[in-house]
Amino acid sequence: MKILVINSGSSSIKFQLLDMQDESVLASGLVERIGEAEGIIKCTLRPGTDSELTIKKAEAVPDHTTGMRMAVDLLTDKQQGVIADRLDISAVGHRVVHGGEDFHAPTVIDAEVMAAIEKNVPLAPLHNPANIDGIRVAQELFAGVPQIAVFDTAFHQTIPPHAYHYALPYELYEKERIRRYGFHGTSHKYVASECARLVGKPLETFNVITIHLGNGCSMTAVKNGKSVDTSLGFTPLEGLVMGTRSGDVDPAIHAFLARNCNMDIEAIDQMLNKESGLKGLCGLNDMRDIHEAIAAGNERARLALEVQTYRNKKYVGAFMAVLGRVDAIVFTAGIGENDEIVRWKTLEGLEPFGIVLDPKANDQRIKKPTLLSTPGSLVQVWGIPTNEELAIAREARAVIGRQ
Ligand code: ADP
Repeated sequence: MKILVINSGSSSIKFQLLDMQDESVLASGLVERIGEAEGIIKCTLRPGTDSELTIKKAEAVPDHTTGMRMAVDLLTDKQQGVIADRLDISAVGHRVVHGGEDFHAPTVIDAEVMAAIEKNVPLAPLHNPANIDGIRVAQELFAGVPQIAVFDTAFHQTIPPHAYHYALPYELYEKERIRRYGFHGTSHKYVASECARLVGKPLETFNVITIHLGNGCSMTAVKNGKSVDTSLGFTPLEGLVMGTRSGDVDPAIHAFLARNCNMDIEAIDQMLNKESGLKGLCGLNDMRDIHEAIAAGNERARLALEVQTYRNKKYVGAFMAVLGRVDAIVFTAGIGENDEIVRWKTLEGLEPFGIVLDPKANDQRIKKPTLLSTPGSLVQVWGIPTNEELAIAREARAVIGRQ
């Protein structure tokens, strides 16, 4: 069974074709700069095998349909391709950012589901329209093939009301659906279940704190295999300090800026999403650059690292209190997998709570699931590479299996 995974953004389409027999990747690619004068399409066929081939082209990609068509042409190319025909694909799994309160699980996309994804556009105005574009293109190109939506928010739909409500006038929840939704759900769910398997406990009784640190950062408290709280909120801005996003701030800062700094709400929103976080503090948003700057004596870069890791620690403490018993903590995504200093500073000082990192095990970039805590640590700490494409493909396989 071959499953195509599509992550359609406003000007890009990321795709991966997996053979679900052994979960191997047949092809992986990215179409970028859709709608610009020159687009880029890059695709690696048969990665990791002797016949691996990377194709890179620069040409205009006017729209998503053209971009997806180019990708399919590469996959089905007579000489180099990995499938004979586009109908060799058993299902297409789509990453959809916002399922609102409508979706608790991955779903086969029909007219009703499309309408519900459209209804949720106001909740994710940048993401859902691009996801919808990707679905429409795939429906056209793969007519008759089941299309499955896998939502970033679905895993968090088990969060109880006391954790998802903001203490705002209740009508805002009823009328505007303002509440915590959480994001990165596919990643949190994937590493939580991988971790349960590695620790050797059934997911149904497994308590874990999953820490996804990439450009976007979030932490989730998983109790008995289910998300019970998460740091991202109504939008992907709340919680941890991210590359360019502030995470938690005093909500009164908005009013202060409007009254005293002549900023309108658009400018404030832009600042909190694009000019804050690590970048706001030190001008750099890539953790690799921040370490280089620290080595060169840049004190602001050091401050950015301190602020981010302190916030991480605060949330670990909060989620330990939420869970009571914590079996494991998992680090994942770009920073979580690669940055031993961020991991160390995040958990440093939590030894009295039974969390003891092994300095030697921690001192590496994580390429495969790795235990990072000492044998005596009450809470196991793991680094587990996230794999959202595989997670989406597994979800899609499960959905068509149930049909
Ligand atoms: P996204 O959230 O866009 O999926 P990733 O999970 O790929 O992002 O994470 C990207 C971030 O990971 C980069 O901005 C960088 O800060 C960090 N990163 C990647 N490689 C390293 C590394 N070797 N050391 C430290 N940080 C890294």
